[in-house]
Amino acid sequence: METITRTKIVDVLKSVAFGSTVNVKGWVRTRRGSKQVNFIALNDGSTINNVQIVVDVEKLGEEYLKPVTTGACISVNGILVESQGKGQNVEIQATEIQIYGSADPATYPLQKKGHSLEFLREIAHLRPRTNTFGAVFRIRHNMAIAIHKFFHERGFFYFHTPIITASDCEGAGQMFQVTTMNLYDLKKDENGSIIYDNDFFGKQASLTVSGQLEGELAAMALGAIYTFGPTFRAENSNTPRHLAEFWMIEPEVAFNEIAENMQLAEDFIKYCVQWALDNCHDDIQFLNDMFDKGLIERLEGVLKETFVRLPYTEGVKILEEAVAKGHKFEFPVYWGVDLASEHERYLVEEHFKRPVILTDYPKEIKAFYMKQNEDGKTVRAMDVLFPKIGEIIGGSQREEDFEKLRTRAEEMGVPVKDIWWYLDTRRFGTAPHSGFGLGFERLLLFVTGMANIRDVIPFPRTPKTADF
Ligand code: ATP
Ligand code: MN
Repeated sequence: METITRTKIVDVLKSVAFGSTVNVKGWVRTRRGSKQVNFIALNDGSTINNVQIVVDVEKLGEEYLKPVTTGACISVNGILVESQGKGQNVEIQATEIQIYGSADPATYPLQKKGHSLEFLREIAHLRPRTNTFGAVFRIRHNMAIAIHKFFHERGFFYFHTPIITASDCEGAGQMFQVTTMNLYDLKKDENGSIIYDNDFFGKQASLTVSGQLEGELAAMALGAIYTFGPTFRAENSNTPRHLAEFWMIEPEVAFNEIAENMQLAEDFIKYCVQWALDNCHDDIQFLNDMFDKGLIERLEGVLKETFVRLPYTEGVKILEEAVAKGHKFEFPVYWGVDLASEHERYLVEEHFKRPVILTDYPKEIKAFYMKQNEDGKTVRAMDVLFPKIGEIIGGSQREEDFEKLRTRAEEMGVPVKDIWWYLDTRRFGTAPHSGFGLGFERLLLFVTGMANIRDVIPFPRTPKTADF
């Protein structure tokens, strides 16, 4: 076969160099046609759109074309022509076809369209080849780029926090342990506690649940930083919004107070949504048409609305009024309760009909490092609540006072001796500062309109599943 430089299908579809010879490579979506002429829909992942290959069956040989079935990988030389058919501008009249790899129709699982998302999760190694997952993963890439662009343009530094940590600050019981010890032969002391002296790190170590504490150290030096990396939670929650391994973005900014933190969160999400609409049009249109007819409208809606800012206490009043008027929630609601997803969604979807930033939560249900309000009861926490998702961001202004922070850590049973380095930020040159964590996959749920978090990460890790 003649060697011609490959063109990606995304570029071929935009080309107007009619009459020129091109090469495309990709995976066959379908082949159909008659004894004389065949049409191959070819996709190479560069776009959701296929290029149509027109094949003169007699010229290439019916026998030769037999392995060109759904899923096969081929290289095509041909002439670019203006398309007669609807829905495409160009097509390629094949002159030569090389078969890289066939895909036996008897065993290739992706024969026809319309497999359920549940089934596709069982073949996560092949699902990127479907239109749906191609679209989701291209959007995922674009969101990662948008995040880096947003922060870089605003002078934030990308800061890498460790994945292995020996400080169990928030997640007792939620953490995955990291060890090289022989689990069949654990050394224990007289109380039955495991002796970690001979373990790799000489102490108990785990996978991080958040890079925030280290992020705060960096903000106290570089001014404004963000992290963007994997985090791990061994919470046994089998919900459509929780993963055991997920990616988190955590900006942390010196001198920002809670109001500025809220504005940053709002600007950040809007930037990402705008980026998706501007750069992922075909993929979002596809997901809108196939899964979620309200998707584009919802994305555009969020850009127009100012997010509601609402103290927790006011939020609880609204929910209690709803109950009084006969609205049924599964879980009870009263001041002091950690709101359930149904409560959050009521505020967002039914009461305000736009995103809500809930602030000033009771201190008992929030982490030790959040700045205490003068009322002695609440802390400067903020959760950003979104339609269909509930909590998308959790953040706060941080307690900058050394004594208050240490006392609160002790009250909440946080081992102060393990976080001496964190407390040092408040001993030396402390400053007001704020930050938040955005779950990358929660953002993707919103932007793609997918309903289950397992379908916006390539290889989901959840209780009892770590295949692929
Ligand atoms: P939730 O109440 O939804 O379980 P959280 O309060 O435990 O979340 P934070 O500790 O505030 O979450 O984490 C910050 C952000 O990380 C959340 O707002 C959410 O977007 C995301 N997040 C938290 N846990 C998970 C998880 N298990 N899987 C995916 N994303 C998560
Ligand atoms: Mn939270």
